[in-house]
Amino acid sequence: MLKGWDLFGFGKKAKKAETAAVAVLPQNQAKSGLSVLYFEVLNECLYAANQIRDTRELFTTIGQLLKTKLSYDRFFVIQLFADGASPLISVGFEDRPFEAKFSQLEESGLLHELFYKRSTWLLKNKSDQFGKQVTDLFGVGSLALSQIGTEHLRAMVGVIKDSPDHELTDEDLQFMRFLTHHLGQIIENNEAYNRLNQQIIELKQLDQAKTTFLSIASHQLRTPLSVFRFALSFLKKPQNGSLTPKQQQIVDEMTQSNIRLINLVNNLLNITRLEQGRLQVHAESFSLAELIKSVLEEVQPKINEKQIKVSANIPDIITLNADRMLIRESMMNLITNGVKYNRPGGELNITVNNSGNDILISVADTGIGISKSDQERLFSQFFRAQQAQTIDPEGVGLGLYTTRQFIQLHGGTITMQSVPEHGTTFTISLPNKLTVPTTAQPQVAPQPPIG
Ligand code: ADP
Repeated sequence: MLKGWDLFGFGKKAKKAETAAVAVLPQNQAKSGLSVLYFEVLNECLYAANQIRDTRELFTTIGQLLKTKLSYDRFFVIQLFADGASPLISVGFEDRPFEAKFSQLEESGLLHELFYKRSTWLLKNKSDQFGKQVTDLFGVGSLALSQIGTEHLRAMVGVIKDSPDHELTDEDLQFMRFLTHHLGQIIENNEAYNRLNQQIIELKQLDQAKTTFLSIASHQLRTPLSVFRFALSFLKKPQNGSLTPKQQQIVDEMTQSNIRLINLVNNLLNITRLEQGRLQVHAESFSLAELIKSVLEEVQPKINEKQIKVSANIPDIITLNADRMLIRESMMNLITNGVKYNRPGGELNITVNNSGNDILISVADTGIGISKSDQERLFSQFFRAQQAQTIDPEGVGLGLYTTRQFIQLHGGTITMQSVPEHGTTFTISLPNKLTVPTTAQPQVAPQPPIG
């Protein structure tokens, strides 16, 4: 927020929008009391300033513009801090170092007066005692000074005309008032932009660190989980000795937990690969009917448990040219959900059609359905509807998210239609001609899911 100076109501309008400093001005030339030349230079300065985010660079550009457009000889900015002041930039001081002039100003106490007595000054060598003191110190004819007082910058901006015969006028001072007022707003906007940008960078770094951690952790979990799986299947084989019913029950429970963990790790690995752009489509030709059949075989125990009536209408001739592993994972997610979120004795219908351009795969169930409000968040990571959490407390809400990513990697889409309490249909549409690049090498060789 700007503190202080009345600027003929310009401030109120300009605060409304970031670019208002430029947009507002043309309507106000008459009101400003500036001649057309000054008004045009003001617009030009503000236009240039609006393109620059760095404060030093911004002032240097303004200084150079003023030198050429309004024939000022010198331009400088002094910044005020809580514990003192220091030169920020200077233009046109090639013949005498500005730093030396600044030190003299400071030591003589003039700087203090300039900062604290008034916000704008028109100082001429020939006018009064104070004007003479300051202009003599600089060795020039006249100076016009105007302060910027925003939340993040307190500074004095000065322009100089060297010759006492061509002094700066009231119009120069008026011009400087407008200029510093609007520059203050631009600098404030830049501050907000830079802060936001910094926050975005930090959030991205955090997100990257999280993905890296997740990737390392899931990789490290793969080996022990595979060992457990092997050991559990070993225990279950009759040739390795018989188990008591209690032991058998424990081994079964451990096997179930092991499978759940393996699925979770596979999902996490897929997500980290997706986020790191490491997941690639490795296309091959395969029969969709066979793939769906093998998924159904794997899910059969759950189908039996819930007594779901499954019908699959898949023409044998349909061959997909796609990544078999990713499509299998996608079908596994949809079919498992169609069973999990179905009611006991419900139906699950799988149909496949070739529309010419696309292969359409539908998985329709007669289960709990999805409410309108939940439908919007369905494909987000970790989203789970309330009812789903009760039905399957172990789910993690990653299946639909990864499925959609896998399908999109193939240039396809997934849509959903649902009637709460009646059922849900997911439809995958895959282009007949795979258009995604399949030759690009992943940064790290893809590994098959464990389990
Ligand atoms: P999970 O099944 O582990 O929760 P998903 O990503 O596969 O994860 O599904 C996310 C959520 O979408 C589920 O928790 C559930 O609320 C909803 N959902 C998915 N498929 C169905 C379906 N066929 N019927 C009803 N709800 C579903």
